[in-house]
Amino acid sequence: MIERAALPYEKNALEPFIGSKTVEFHYEKHHATYVSNANAKIEGTEFERLDITAILEKTFDDTEKKAIFNNVAQAWNHSFYWQCMKPGGGGSPRGEIASMIDSAFGNYSSFLEKIKTAAAGQFGSGWAWLVLKNGNLQIVTTSNADTPIAHGMKPLLTIDVWEHAYYLDYQNRRADYLSAFMNSLINWEFVERCLEE
Ligand code: MN
Repeated sequence: MIERAALPYEKNALEPFIGSKTVEFHYEKHHATYVSNANAKIEGTEFERLDITAILEKTFDDTEKKAIFNNVAQAWNHSFYWQCMKPGGGGSPRGEIASMIDSAFGNYSSFLEKIKTAAAGQFGSGWAWLVLKNGNLQIVTTSNADTPIAHGMKPLLTIDVWEHAYYLDYQNRRADYLSAFMNSLINWEFVERCLEE
């Protein structure tokens, strides 16, 4: 069974940056549907007892298994996404992740510029990520459902750039959503925990 992680805050907790209607539809409709589709598609198959990473690695480049990959990946991506935000979050981090960002990208504002550019430049639906790849911090984007855990990378932070993540609050202004996410929502303690795991 693929689980949908509990929302770690109330649906209105991210206001005014992400409204309760967005969280309601995104969590209760979009995310819930990915999870139920994922479970329906793996039930009674060889994938039923595998962990999510194993399912994704085994289905990624198999066109006949694309629907399994897409739904399982989206189920995982969304559970991760909700943890990446918190009320009163955002701004520059402290501690180990702060020094790692400085050594990888020069400084925090350069990191900010790079991740916003990557997220704004993702054509169509997808995700922007901060990941560890071979021990190094990198910014990557993925299209549609694709996810770094299918490609041997360790996700530390993600931003959902599908329109359903921001359209009710920002319409076409993806850059404004990205600024709000970076300045006011990132849960850096969660990023730190991912780093330590
Ligand atoms: Mn989404």
